[in-house]
Formats: sequence, structure tokens, C-alpha cells
Amino acid sequence: MKFCPNCGSTNIDWVLPQDWSRWTCKDCGYIGPLIIEDGKIGEKIREEYLKKHQRK
Ligand SMILES: [Zn+2]
Repeated sequence: MKFCPNCGSTNIDWVLPQDWSRWTCKDCGYIGPLIIEDGKIGEKIREEYLKKHQRK
């Protein structure tokens, strides 16, 4: 499982299928070489992101 380092989403994909060094997140629009592969860290990032973007 892979996670977005910005929002913790698993809805990520390569920017270009032939370029495996760059990822894009379809949820927050992140584009970059970094991706989280540790589920525990991914969940933490997701939690923090949702907390920050919670509507009050
Ligand atoms: Zn994201």
C-alpha cells in the first residue's frame, strides 16, 4: 500500500506511467518523488490532514 505524504490518501498514481520517479495524488493534487509505504505513517498523515481540514 502506498500513501500520499501530504494527505495520506491511497488514491495516488504515477504522473506518467513511464516515469516511476514522480507521483501524483488525486485527492490533494500533490506531485513529487516522495511516497509513503508504511501504513502506520500513512494513517497518521491521513488523520492529521483530516483534522486540519475539518469543517467546523
Ligand atoms: Zn494527497
